[in-house]
Amino acid sequence: MMGKGGLDGATDAELLRAARLIGDSRRLFVFTGAGISKESGLPVFRGEGGLWERMDPGILEISRFTSDPEGSWRAIRGLFYEASTLPEPNAAHRVLAKWEAEGRIASLVTQNIDGLHRAAGSRRVVEFHGSLADLVCGRCGRRFRASPSEIAAGVALQLPPRCGSWPPEAPVADGCGGVLKPDFVFFGEGIPSEAYGAALAGAEAADLCLIVGSAGVVYPAAGLPAIVKKNGGTIIEIDPSVTEFTKSLGGIHLAVGAVEGLTRLDALLTPR
Ligand SMILES: [Zn+2]
Repeated sequence: MMGKGGLDGATDAELLRAARLIGDSRRLFVFTGAGISKESGLPVFRGEGGLWERMDPGILEISRFTSDPEGSWRAIRGLFYEASTLPEPNAAHRVLAKWEAEGRIASLVTQNIDGLHRAAGSRRVVEFHGSLADLVCGRCGRRFRASPSEIAAGVALQLPPRCGSWPPEAPVADGCGGVLKPDFVFFGEGIPSEAYGAALAGAEAADLCLIVGSAGVVYPAAGLPAIVKKNGGTIIEIDPSVTEFTKSLGGIHLAVGAVEGLTRLDALLTPR
């Protein structure tokens, strides 16, 4: 993949400059969006060809979930928990997990709920919009950590899943009976304050921001890279398209997909 130069939207000079900045950064803030999971076969929600062109976003309204948990769960199961269509992490997720292990990343914040950073081995991920790889009881707040495939197997047997009869094969005895909800932020819900605080702290402390595959349209998450820039940090963006970030923040724009961009950058870094 090396040496294609400007043909694919990232020149060798731009990549080298970006790799040097990443290598020299002391407090790297990485911000990822749907684009990083695209090459895992995950459909994006917004924009052309996105999920919301053929599905009603209302299925992820918290009010609908509360009034009709079983119907909502049926739709949610079809969207996220079909065993045959569960996405796997790709090389872009794996590069970021490796960089974390090498001590290159101070803060990784994702807008994605797919859990693929964790699945790839990243340990410290701020899941700004929560994750579908957890369930939470709407009544008592108890959390049930499970992989998407475990949840898929469970909700194939039990719908809606309930606190006290979950997981189906070995239920916790003292559950309250409340309906379990995927622990991501539904429309109509606020950002979890812990995730918000951690993301803000990471952005405030950063000297460099690497944006991967985010269109920059979903707030308040999309406001985070601007904080890095305001504090004098540099912006590097990996995205095949010109985004709101490209227009408003500038910096280095590597106009390639997440897998190509991150693997090429990784190859240019001095090993640690
Ligand atoms: Zn409960």
